[in-house]
Amino acid sequence: MTKLANSFDTALRERASRVVPGGMWGHQHAAKLPEGYPQFFSRADGCRVWDVDGRPYLDFMCSWGPNMLGHHHPEVEEAAQRQARLGDCMNGPAEAMVELAELLVDTVAHADWAQFQKNGSDATTTCVTIARAATGRRKLLAARGAYHGAVPWCSPSLIGVTAEDRAHILLYDYNDPESLRAAAEEAGDDLAGVIVSAFRHDLGRDQELPTAAFAQAAREICDAKGAALIMDEVRAGFRLNLAGSWEHLGIRPDLAAWSKAIANGYPLAAVTGREWLRKAASQIFVTGSFWCGAVPMAAGVATLTVLRRDGVVEHLAAMGQSLRDGLAELARRHGLGLRQTGPAQMPMILFEDDADFRKGELFCRTALAEGVYFHPRHNMFLCAAHGEAEIAEALAAADIGLAAVAEHSRVAA
Ligand code: PMP
Repeated sequence: MTKLANSFDTALRERASRVVPGGMWGHQHAAKLPEGYPQFFSRADGCRVWDVDGRPYLDFMCSWGPNMLGHHHPEVEEAAQRQARLGDCMNGPAEAMVELAELLVDTVAHADWAQFQKNGSDATTTCVTIARAATGRRKLLAARGAYHGAVPWCSPSLIGVTAEDRAHILLYDYNDPESLRAAAEEAGDDLAGVIVSAFRHDLGRDQELPTAAFAQAAREICDAKGAALIMDEVRAGFRLNLAGSWEHLGIRPDLAAWSKAIANGYPLAAVTGREWLRKAASQIFVTGSFWCGAVPMAAGVATLTVLRRDGVVEHLAAMGQSLRDGLAELARRHGLGLRQTGPAQMPMILFEDDADFRKGELFCRTALAEGVYFHPRHNMFLCAAHGEAEIAEALAAADIGLAAVAEHSRVAA
């Protein structure tokens, strides 16, 4: 679908280009998507979004993660609106902060305490600061290619970043215990922490679940060195296991960073931690003008309450598996090789022999024209509003998208 030259989206992009550098920043810049994807949206409901030209899409990005229960979930909205009528941005937090911390401590297996921020980058950065404060050491081990936020110590771009910002970061390869041990060796007696993603979900490559050997090595290194194992749960948090993404491996972190799904789209992040880090967490200076906003906290309490009650993780996994099985069958029928990796509730769809992502982009562009919003390079997200009917609708669009890819491959051959 080519954008109409006179669309409202085009007009907004033109206006934005004059007053917003580059028209948009970061990963939500529509220029990073195939042609035809809208930049601007007018509304959202359940698992659907509408662009500013009024076109609806069945959405598999879910706001890049935050939409977990569906837009306008009645219990979350009711809680948020009730709190909004009372007060949001006040001189300090509302009761909801204590309720949410209590809920997190009760839900997350390693958590003895919780602290709140706004964005995922705030939470990962706070974890690193706590680890350094508690240990009095400087070095942090991070996986090559992993995303932990958009601040200088971890931004994927080096533009505007100094070497000093990265001075104490040592890299290892995800799922490679040997490289982790080598990096820990290099850190010597200056190791403050090891940051790990819940699973490997780097842009544009197959997702990888953590191996037991890797998770164990990370835990053992931290235990042996007295360093903090930091889990970045920002993207995967609450979609795999409410108690923590490595619970099935029997490995618990010392600190975890949460955001995205925690308040079903209201701006909120959290750090949870173990007892031995409580003092350091209370001593560091971290804050933000909006960090104690009461509406997102009330939304967070409602979101976690629904997540605990309704078996949402199981629903997401089942719907994700339906989508995955359906896509695998369609790909087989069209004679295409498809790689679907990682947890089914966070789908990653990549094509074989597609180093330049042309097949993926054609697939997504075609599905978009059929009203389904997929992403060609980034992992996607399921939400509770995706049911069997929506998966069937997505598969019908995917069938047309795969036919376009098969046709293109035939012509190119
Ligand atoms: N860590 C991970 C794993 C993420 O996926 C993200 C966001 N995509 C972040 C950290 C940073 O979160 P935010 O964009 O809210 O700062």
